[in-house]
Amino acid sequence: QISLNSFDIGCNIGKGGFGKVYIAREKTNSYIVALKLLSIEQLIKENAEEQLRHEVEIQANLRHPNILRLLGYFQQSMYFILILEYAAKGELYKQLLKSGRLKEKKASRYIAQIAEALSYIHQKHVIHRDIKPENLLIDLNDEIKIADFGWSVHTKKSTLDYISPEIVEGKEHDERIDLWSLGVLCYKLLTGTTPFEETGRTATYKQIAKAEFTLPDHLSVEACDLICSVTVF
Ligand code: ADP
Ligand code: MG
Ligand code: MG
Repeated sequence: QISLNSFDIGCNIGKGGFGKVYIAREKTNSYIVALKLLSIEQLIKENAEEQLRHEVEIQANLRHPNILRLLGYFQQSMYFILILEYAAKGELYKQLLKSGRLKEKKASRYIAQIAEALSYIHQKHVIHRDIKPENLLIDLNDEIKIADFGWSVHTKKSTLDYISPEIVEGKEHDERIDLWSLGVLCYKLLTGTTPFEETGRTATYKQIAKAEFTLPDHLSVEACDLICSVTVF
């Protein structure tokens, strides 16, 4: 029976809305993993049990070199715990903070890997819905690992009995929202800023709705093409 006792737990390596994440070593085989501890009390308080169920069911069934593996899960006292593949170089976000923006060659390698992984999950009728530099991790070999499937959903279910009203409405449950995010991400990696940064929410929403953004001169034609082709609905 697996429990926290099966691990030597190291330092805290990350924090999200629900999760505190620790590096850990499995005692019997010395395997290094990341443990994501979710407070059950907080999950219940914020009505996020459904969200966690999606995260676990979806991520556990995905096998792709650029998707962070969910190796297992268990519950212990006040926590629900996910055992995750460890991504040694952490968030793409941090790398971006350090270097401001990435060279096109480096960014294109990352973008290609993310596109491959998105294509894989979309074929399985899964959308991630939370693609951003905080949820894109990097392993020792500088390979991208898409993480945090907390907002992911299945777009197709075999029967109608279980589908939610949002899915019936159809609108936001569409693969294109991940592609849109990929475009924004590509922009961010190459320029260091996001394309839609107006002052205030309403102004930003308007810009997004009209897909209104400017492309700086230093971007190559190819980069501009890619960004424009995924930000058209
Ligand atoms: P939340 O759902 O609360 O946003 P995440 O799964 O995104 O939680 O994890 C929060 C942060 O913890 C990530 O942004 C990242 O910095 C770190 N982290 C999570 N999983 C790993 C992992 N497997 N390896 C390394 N760092 C991780
Ligand atoms: Mg996250
Ligand atoms: Mg999450």
